[in-house]
Order: sequence, then structure tokens, then C-alpha cells
Amino acid sequence: MFEIEIDRDACDGIFACLTRDERFIEDDDGLATVDPNAAGVVSVSRDGDRVVATVDGDIDDANLAAKACPPNAIVIREAET
Ligand code: SF4
Repeated sequence: MFEIEIDRDACDGIFACLTRDERFIEDDDGLATVDPNAAGVVSVSRDGDRVVATVDGDIDDANLAAKACPPNAIVIREAET
């Protein structure tokens, strides 16, 4: 299990993340979020400018998305159990 955190204040809608990990999607504000219906996504919550998704699945694509994000708006970390 791991978490994807997106800082929507830093996100500038370039969407490099979407091409690396299909769990990332564009929301109605034109910024990145995580698709709550994507395979392996356990939960997605929003707190102000922060989106945090808990995911049970492959972490490699998420790490690629984080590395590809120009403003470093994505953090990937192991979920607390
Ligand atoms: S790559 Fe980064 S800046 Fe671009 S949409 Fe994704 S999270 Fe936002």
C-alpha cells in the first residue's frame, strides 16, 4: 500500500503525470487528481490544496509520474499501516 499526494497549489496542469500513470486524471479545475474508480485505488481524499490517495497496487508508475512532474507537486510514500 502506498499514498499519492498531489499539491494542487504547485500543480500547473502540464499533465506529464497522466501519461506515466493512468490513475492520474484531470479534474474539473484543470488540475491533477487521482481517479477513485481506477484499479487498486482504495480511497481519495481532498483537504484544501492537498489530494491524498491510498493505493494498493504497482508503485512504479506512480514514481515515474512523480519524477516527471516539473514543479514536483507529487509525493509518493509508503502508507502507514
Ligand atoms: S505533472 Fe505535476 S504539474 Fe503536471 S498535472 Fe501532473 S501533478 Fe500537476
